[in-house]
This record gives sequence, structure tokens and C-alpha cells, in this order.
Amino acid sequence: MQTILQFLKSLKEKPERSGHSPLLFVGHGNPMNAIEDNHFRRTWEKIGKEIPQPEAILVISAHWQTRGSWVTAMENPRTIHDFYGFPQELYEQKYPSPGNPELASMISGMMPDKKIGLNSDWGLDHGTWSVLKPMFPKADIPVVQLSLDAEQPPEYHFMLAKNLEYLRKSGVMIIGSGNIVHNLSLMKFSPEAYDWAIEFDDKVKSLIDLRDYQPLIDYDKLGEAARLSIPTSEHYLPLLYSLALVGKKDEIQYFNEVATMGSVSMRSFIAG
Ligand code: ZN
Repeated sequence: MQTILQFLKSLKEKPERSGHSPLLFVGHGNPMNAIEDNHFRRTWEKIGKEIPQPEAILVISAHWQTRGSWVTAMENPRTIHDFYGFPQELYEQKYPSPGNPELASMISGMMPDKKIGLNSDWGLDHGTWSVLKPMFPKADIPVVQLSLDAEQPPEYHFMLAKNLEYLRKSGVMIIGSGNIVHNLSLMKFSPEAYDWAIEFDDKVKSLIDLRDYQPLIDYDKLGEAARLSIPTSEHYLPLLYSLALVGKKDEIQYFNEVATMGSVSMRSFIAG
């Protein structure tokens, strides 16, 4: 089986394979991954070093839910510390990447029948910066976030994402940042994942391998393991954005394929 490093090397050697910027789904997990030296963070660092540098980054984060869809349009997005009870060091972290108002305007008008609002007061939440800081520590690539419209069904998110495809052709790297299995109320302090968490994570992987996305959109029909893995949809929906953007010529490489704290899957993928 190919390793993530071999895959990243193949992206460099065959940039014409898909003709698109690489696309990611990242299981972000614990905010401490931003500063802690661990396997997840080291993989993010590796990807940032090896990947062709994007012109701009668009992140769909689990941590920005809104009424209606919004895109960050400020010149200098602030770093948002949207978590509680963590060490002071984590609250002192900043990710001062510039925004990209021009890209935000393009995204704002991309839906044929719906306006995506231009937002001037959000910024970069930890679903974005905890991953980007290890990946692109210089913070010199412009970053824009697109919110999750909390009032819309999964199908809407998948279809909305389809409209973003052209951005990949213009050097924008798109990242869905969430977790496939995310049930904090059943979290435990032992490394073994619950059986249902493994079952659902495996199910998702096998459907992705088949490029069979409809059952993943209709995840509420996937039974008890899905119900326990997705008690609320915000960490799962970014996966649908990433899947909607996988092109026919893209290869998919998984990384961080483990569960932590029993009920959080870190499974991630890069496509290109
Ligand atoms: Zn999260």
C-alpha cells in the first residue's frame, strides 16, 4: 500500500494527473493537535512541506455554523479561540494569514440561485488554524472560510460544494475540516475506539473507495453505528464538501487513519 509520502511525491511528479489543486478532508480532533507533537500533527507538517503550494486556501470548518451561507471577506481574519478549558499556551496561538476578499466575492456569486453572504466579523476558527498552523507555519497563504448553513439538509451541502470545483482549477486548495466519527459525550480516556466507531469509520472508507457518495449523504439511513458516530452533523458535513469535489481523475490517499478517545475518528484524505 502506498504511504502518504509516496502519494505526495506522486503529486509533485505528476501535477497533470488531475490538473487541479489537491483537495483535503482533515479530521482535526483535539485543538491541542495545533501545538502538541503527535502523529496527527507530524502528518500535517509533512503534507505542508511536500504539497505544491496553493495560491489560496478555502476551508469549510465544523466550527462555523450559521443561518444562511457566508464566506469570510476581510483582509485580515482574526484567530478565533473557540474552545474552553485548555492550557494558556493554546489561547496565545495566532495564525495571521491574510484573507482574500476577491476570492470571497467570487465564492459569494458562485451559486446560480442563491447569494452567499460576505462576512466581516468571523475569522479563522480552530477547525482551520489548528490544522493550517502545522501545515503552513509561515501563514503567508491567503485563507477564506465558508460557513455551514445549519438549516440545510446534507444534500444541500454536497450540491453547494459542487459549485466550488472551478476553484481547484485556479490554484485554490479546498479543505473540509471536521471528523467522520465525533461523539464527545461518549469520549473516553483510553485509546481503543468503540466497536460502533470502527464500524462506521470502515463503512465510510469503503463507500469512499467505491466513490459511492449517496449513502454518505443519506447517512441517517446507515443505522445505529452512524447514529452514534454523528450525534450532530457539524463535524460530518465538511466531509461531504470534500467528497463532492473529488474529480474523476483524482486518486485518494488516506492518512491519520485512527480513532482517538474512543469516539473521534481522525481519518483524513488527500485527493489529487
Ligand atoms: Zn472540532
